[in-house]
Amino acid sequence: MTDPIDRKGLKRRFWESKPLAKMSQKEWESLCDGCGKCCLNKLEDEDSGTVALTRIACRLLDDSTCRCAHYDNRHQFVPDCIVLKPDNLDTHAYWMPQTCAYRLLWQGEPLPDWHPLISGTAQSVHDAGVSVQGWTLSEFDIPEDDWEDHIIEEPT
Ligand code: SF4
Ligand code: SF4
Repeated sequence: MTDPIDRKGLKRRFWESKPLAKMSQKEWESLCDGCGKCCLNKLEDEDSGTVALTRIACRLLDDSTCRCAHYDNRHQFVPDCIVLKPDNLDTHAYWMPQTCAYRLLWQGEPLPDWHPLISGTAQSVHDAGVSVQGWTLSEFDIPEDDWEDHIIEEPT
């Protein structure tokens, strides 16, 4: 599959030597593996602070491509969709999927071999079974009270 993210011309393994806050916009965006898991609805326990992801996807997620169907104007439909940046990663990393490259680097962990920056192809994310491809349910179809029945085990 064609990689929708431009990862050409980047220095080999730049993320191992460059801090997140020092990355260029292109480097920052290239870290996204395209898994789509940050577009799943999550359940957060207010007392313990634990977060569980569900297979119930945001209304705009296309789970065949694992991409937002209206990324550029998504805030018209989903006003609280976050724009992840180096200066708000501290706030959001705790709920990001366990395989998310931003979370992994924030935690000081390496990127996995299936990451497109290492494998050289976006398809490796789907082949490794870590994307949402083909297994989400729409939030239009499942009442919020039932989301608890659709919690997923991470890091799948
Ligand atoms: S979870 Fe992380 S790596 Fe996956 S699509 Fe979202 S931002 Fe990208
Ligand atoms: S609006 Fe788009 S980017 Fe934001 S959570 Fe929904 S599908 Fe993902």
